[in-house]
Amino acid sequence: MTWRDIRCGEPRAEQVGRTLTLAGWAARRRDHGGLVFVDLRDHTGVMQLVVNPERSPAAAELAKEIRNEFVLRATGEVVARSPDTVNPRMPTGEVELLVDALEIVSRSTPLPFQLDDEGVDEGLRLRYRWLDLRRESMQRNLRSRATVVAAIRRSMEEQGFVDIWTPGLTLGTPEGARDFLVPVRLQPGNFFALAQSPQLFKQALMIAGFDRYYQIATCWRDEDLRADRQFEFRQLDLELAFPTREDVLDVLEKVVRASFESVGLEAPERPFPRLSYAEATLSYGSDKPDLRFGLEIQDGTEVTRGSEFAVFAGASTVRFLVVPQAFSRGELAKLETIAKEWGAKGLAYLVCDQEGEVRSPIAKFLSPNELAAFAAPPGSTVLFVADERPVVERVLGALRLHLGRELGLIEEGRNAFHWVLDFPLFQLDEDSGKWTFVHHPFTSPLAGHDELIDRDPANALSQHYDLIWNGWELGSGSIRIHRSDVQQRVFRAMGMTEEEASTKFGWFLEALQMGAPPHGGFALGLDRFVALLAGEPNIREVIAFPKVSSGADPLTGAPTPVPAEQLDELGIRVLDAES
Ligand code: ASP
Repeated sequence: MTWRDIRCGEPRAEQVGRTLTLAGWAARRRDHGGLVFVDLRDHTGVMQLVVNPERSPAAAELAKEIRNEFVLRATGEVVARSPDTVNPRMPTGEVELLVDALEIVSRSTPLPFQLDDEGVDEGLRLRYRWLDLRRESMQRNLRSRATVVAAIRRSMEEQGFVDIWTPGLTLGTPEGARDFLVPVRLQPGNFFALAQSPQLFKQALMIAGFDRYYQIATCWRDEDLRADRQFEFRQLDLELAFPTREDVLDVLEKVVRASFESVGLEAPERPFPRLSYAEATLSYGSDKPDLRFGLEIQDGTEVTRGSEFAVFAGASTVRFLVVPQAFSRGELAKLETIAKEWGAKGLAYLVCDQEGEVRSPIAKFLSPNELAAFAAPPGSTVLFVADERPVVERVLGALRLHLGRELGLIEEGRNAFHWVLDFPLFQLDEDSGKWTFVHHPFTSPLAGHDELIDRDPANALSQHYDLIWNGWELGSGSIRIHRSDVQQRVFRAMGMTEEEASTKFGWFLEALQMGAPPHGGFALGLDRFVALLAGEPNIREVIAFPKVSSGADPLTGAPTPVPAEQLDELGIRVLDAES
């Protein structure tokens, strides 16, 4: 016995005259007063079954019971459809199966939604994910995800990387998120942390002489969930020994190209453009700029020193955008609201109308020199933000993106890949007032910046690089510190005592002292990469069983309380949520 001879989407005119068995789900049943038509579906497509009471009375009787999503098995003869019933929209549309024997293999309760319903509530889709995943778009997304992962693996193997598994249960790894903790029954009171990434293990593998490591790794980070973030996610994690930065970027560019090609998309040209962090934040107000359009930010700080306009004169940074549209008062008011939402105190402007006349409440305060520096073509507006540098960057970066979308400046369909290089090594943690890492504490300073670690952390640059696609950060990496003394200085600069450093990273500092080669690597976030390749705005569309923003899994109902005995065994007492 076979369940099926052929899949539902496969029969063509060549099979006419053959007797075949098909199995699949009932996508639709139409009763034409006697003749029953059933669309039988599997992931390959749909085949029309025709049940004729004269040909098979038993099948016709049973066919009355069929409802959507019943699993059926049908044997019959493949016949050509009459010319007026050929369906050119279906690959199987020239044929149909005249059923001789029908079996209901499995029934379905009434469905919470129909598979072809549009706009089904996402909570419902996730609660009944097994149904949702039967839909064509979800089948396509998950299958193309598998295709991309296979291409990535092939590319990595071709480039000489070795796939090595590293533990999920480990000691906390600092990637800037909270750890998920796992209690240990055999050691009550002790906890594992789920790996935020395999960072230290992959560095240990370099010290162990593995040269080129990779893994499709699962990472766990306790952060708020968003459209592009889940508690657990997968990344292509890799590390090389004795690399130059270019070696690492080269590996990734090959992987990106192979991924595009695997799903039939035109691969972006190599090498991807490179941009320093300083250039990115100056010209685009972002460390992950969308380069599908220009609208570059310009600096007006120098020219406004000593300005009559007090707002400019009093601000440490003055920057502006020249927008190719003469905005009305109403439009300017809306833009100011956006600017304020991003932290600006106000939004100064010069509007240059079609006749070249300048409209602006601030023009009268500006010197000829300033006006010359801000001269804009007729039909445009100059928008200024004057404040501390981070505020100026944030606000103008947000306005640039908003206007790019609003004015249709973004070249849709273009794939702008680029690297952002030379990030700062440290940033100030607003809460603690201490220096903390930008990437993670294992990132090497840029050549010549070692001595800034303790003397001038604000200006120390690092060998950290990010890969950006159309304004999305696909991943991060760096050349690492391979000397224990430098590593200890970085920990110290972050306010960590020797004791703390040794409790958290003692084993690793020791490893660095036993012949650590120079090394560096990268991690490419797969969920976002695959979602973008599939044209999906939300990573949940490329994850089989994702969680919702509350952190819950609507399918299983997890997380849930656990029985008291289980907690006792682990030595855990749960405080009343009220207390
Ligand atoms: N461990 C880093 C991350 O997960 C990537 C890297 O530096 O290789 O983002």
